[in-house]
Amino acid sequence: MAEPAYYLGVDIGTTSTKAVLFDKTGNIGASASIHYPLHTPSAQAAEQDPEVIFRAVLGTVRETMRKSAIDPASLKLVSFSSAIHSLIAVGAEGELLSQAITWADSRAAKHATRIKEELDGHAIYLRTGTPVHAMSPLAKIVWLKEDKAEIFGETAMFADIKSFIFHKFFGEFVVDHSIASSTGLFNFKNLDWDSGALEVAGIHAGQLPKLVPTTHQLKGLAADHAAFMGIPKDVPFIIGASDGALANIGLGAIGPGVAAVTIGTSGAVRTVSPMPKTDPKGRTFCYALTADHWIIGGAVNNGGIILRWLLDEFAAAEVETAKRLGTNPYDVLTKIASTVNPGSDGLIFHPYLTGERAPIWDSNARGSFFGLSIHHEKQHMIRAVIEGIVFNLYTVALAVEEVTGEPTLIKASGGFARSEMLRQLLADVFGQPVTVPESFEVPVSARPFSACMRSVKSTTSASPET
Ligand code: ADP
Repeated sequence: MAEPAYYLGVDIGTTSTKAVLFDKTGNIGASASIHYPLHTPSAQAAEQDPEVIFRAVLGTVRETMRKSAIDPASLKLVSFSSAIHSLIAVGAEGELLSQAITWADSRAAKHATRIKEELDGHAIYLRTGTPVHAMSPLAKIVWLKEDKAEIFGETAMFADIKSFIFHKFFGEFVVDHSIASSTGLFNFKNLDWDSGALEVAGIHAGQLPKLVPTTHQLKGLAADHAAFMGIPKDVPFIIGASDGALANIGLGAIGPGVAAVTIGTSGAVRTVSPMPKTDPKGRTFCYALTADHWIIGGAVNNGGIILRWLLDEFAAAEVETAKRLGTNPYDVLTKIASTVNPGSDGLIFHPYLTGERAPIWDSNARGSFFGLSIHHEKQHMIRAVIEGIVFNLYTVALAVEEVTGEPTLIKASGGFARSEMLRQLLADVFGQPVTVPESFEVPVSARPFSACMRSVKSTTSASPET
């Protein structure tokens, strides 16, 4: 009988850490997740405690191993994924000088603007692939330098959450090319820290983790942590990549012409290119996966969070209806939206309620309804909001298309893609067939959005999901 072999994946996300055990054929076994808070002491700050996240990593691995009851010797490797753009200032003795400053933190907005306007930020973007924005560690380091000089002066290592955790496990700071490529400090041509970006940040390469490929293995796990997690200390740990880059693999959106479209709380369009590519207009990102797989795409703030806002602020009656019927409140909203013609009878919604990243990169952007007239009713507003979210993402897809070529298939994921009506809308607006992970049900083909509008206008009754 073949020797049993198991593989453990650990995803260090913004809301939780998840660990999942797989067997040789990719079947999912035991899993565990631990949630933790995102602290927002001010409107701009969005921080997390790295020690809490480290304990969540330990806890999820321990719980997964306990639940699975596998022989620890059959665990062949542990591999990691994490959110991008986090920055942690660490002192010379390994002490924490800051919390993990997350992608959602906008305290560096002013500094990002200055880098863009006065410090040749566009040239830095063209070399690093990271749009110059408050989210990027480059802008955050400049913020620390200028506004938190006491922290900046004491910082021996500017780590990200994954390198912080690997330091706990193996005593060295290492960062994979994927996470590094989203710092704004990594030159994708020579796969090394970018001297021009380091100069702007006012730091030297010795203050950043050692760069390694995403397939890099570390062995010799600290004995106490190995014992706590219930795994052998010589099991290889693969550093892995960023969550977005790995999501493309998970969705099978890796080949030419395939675009991954994710609409969860936020949203993103991601394609894979065999070589790094940037946008002369600076609208898209270019992040590493492997030496010949580069993730070209754009991320928006205003994804499902806007649908959630609609539900919370305007749909109390619909939420009640859903409760009464025992259905999902989002299904009630999409059903109502389906009663309105595509195009919402001329009503347009700009979904920039939380500022916007791609494609406009403007933290001060705000939302609006445009074209309201007396005949518009609540259902038009619901449909316009949904269309606004999808069209905003479509404009990102158009920018990505200019860089990597037109996709021929969309692989959708995220909470939004659970709804058949929303999947169909994605297919119609993007003009491409949309498939979803098996657990999300059937794929849908595209019908030109304009044709949908024509076909609806030619009938007297608005048909659902036209
Ligand atoms: P996250 O990005 O935080 O991991 P999800 O991928 O679960 O979250 O997406 C959450 C969002 O997906 C919600 O805010 C909502 O807008 C949308 N959503 C969740 N369930 C549905 C559904 N059944 N139909 C339509 N949209 C949904």
